[in-house]
Amino acid sequence: MSDNRRIQSECKACRTKIIYLLTEKNKLMPVDADTVDKDDQHFNYKKHKSHFVTCTRPEVFRKPRTIDPKEKERIDEENFRRDLKIFKEKLSKDTRPFIKFNKIEVTMPRFNLLERCAKLNMPFDDLISKDNGELREWLSMHEALESEQLSLL
Ligand SMILES: [Zn+2]
Repeated sequence: MSDNRRIQSECKACRTKIIYLLTEKNKLMPVDADTVDKDDQHFNYKKHKSHFVTCTRPEVFRKPRTIDPKEKERIDEENFRRDLKIFKEKLSKDTRPFIKFNKIEVTMPRFNLLERCAKLNMPFDDLISKDNGELREWLSMHEALESEQLSLL
C-alpha cells in the first residue's frame, strides 16, 4: 500500500502527525507517524506507537461525564424531600412567636423571608400577617437601607 492510500492526519489535540493503520479487528488505529514505515499497513504494537498512548493532551477527547436527566431528577427530588423533612423538624421546635402564631402557613421560602425580616426588626403584626410578596417588598426596601447604612460606617 502506498502512502497516499493511507489516512494521514494530525491529532486535533496535540497536533502530532498521525497515520491510521488497521488493527487485527479491522479497526482504524491512530499511530504516531514517525513510527510508521512507508509500506506499513497493519498496526503492530511492537513497532508502532498508538497515539491513544502517546497523545500529550488526551483530556481533549474525554467526554465530560453526563448525568442521566431522569437520574438527576430523582436525586433532586430525594434531596428536596430530605431538606423538607429537616425543615419540618426544625420548624416544629421553633417556638418564636412570629413562627408559632403566623397566620400564613410557614413553608421553607416563607421561613427564610421571615428570618430576614425579623432580623431587621419588622413589627410582629406584620411578620405574622404579611404575605410572601409583601415580605419580599419590605425586605428589598430595608435590606437596601441596611447595606447603605453599613457602607456609611
Ligand atoms: Zn494527540
